[in-house]
Amino acid sequence: MSLKLYGSPLVVTDSGGKDSAVCREIVRRAGIPYEVQHNLTTADAPQTIYYVRDTFKRLEEQGVTCRFSYPFYKEQRVTMWTLIPIKKFPPTRLQRYCCQVLKEASCRDRFITTGVRWAESIKRRKNRGVYENFTSNRDKKIILNNDNDEQRRLFESCELKGKRICNPIVDWTDRDIWDYIRSERLPMNPLYDMGFFRVGCIGCPMAGKRRWMEFSIFPTYKQAYMRAFGRMLDVIHAEGIPTKWKTAGDVFSWWMEDGQIEGQMSLDDFEGWELPSG
Ligand code: SF4
Repeated sequence: MSLKLYGSPLVVTDSGGKDSAVCREIVRRAGIPYEVQHNLTTADAPQTIYYVRDTFKRLEEQGVTCRFSYPFYKEQRVTMWTLIPIKKFPPTRLQRYCCQVLKEASCRDRFITTGVRWAESIKRRKNRGVYENFTSNRDKKIILNNDNDEQRRLFESCELKGKRICNPIVDWTDRDIWDYIRSERLPMNPLYDMGFFRVGCIGCPMAGKRRWMEFSIFPTYKQAYMRAFGRMLDVIHAEGIPTKWKTAGDVFSWWMEDGQIEGQMSLDDFEGWELPSG
């Protein structure tokens, strides 16, 4: 389909995670021409970058074209750290502009595969289908490639970006994934052995409270977010945009959803208080 529709091979998007590893192997075994692309988010763990580099080296020796895609926004090279001040708010679960810019913008006019999978859901079977056109989605919502939503389909098309998407493991469970990886002895990103459930940007809002663990292992990423939040506040203050955030630490606390926002008290605030006698 890729050769027929676009005149070029299928692109396997590779995040460096377990789902991508399975997709790569499935496509390799299919015996079709393909290329592999890693979108550099600039917030991936070093282990992920080394793992992807090793994978690319192995694949290139087999004649497969592999490339890193560098993100651009409004025709400027960006990173996670420069994008935050441009957007003037931190990426959140509901506002994942980072994925849209750092990962989704590439591969226009190409047929790609992603490793998205349905979340375990009873509803998912009701929504099965072969093709989905993003723009006619009844919820009119933006679906990102890393959304493991039950409405994802095996084949999808995005008219806006002129790309078609194949999600070959959309109905695989976690267990299917790990069984396949073990039975086929696929080399894996070492982050999984370090206690990571998912591989993506360090500090990704989708990781929720697990971000505390991520930042304890990779403290320099916390510092990078703090610096980006500081630059973001500089822009906000310079433009006179009203905000309750005074410091990068305020933004970080809000972002981590630990409740440490202005006016609130933490349990630490109660230390030293004397309880009333009696
Ligand atoms: S993986 Fe998370 S942090 Fe990284 S670009 Fe996507 S939403 Fe943003």
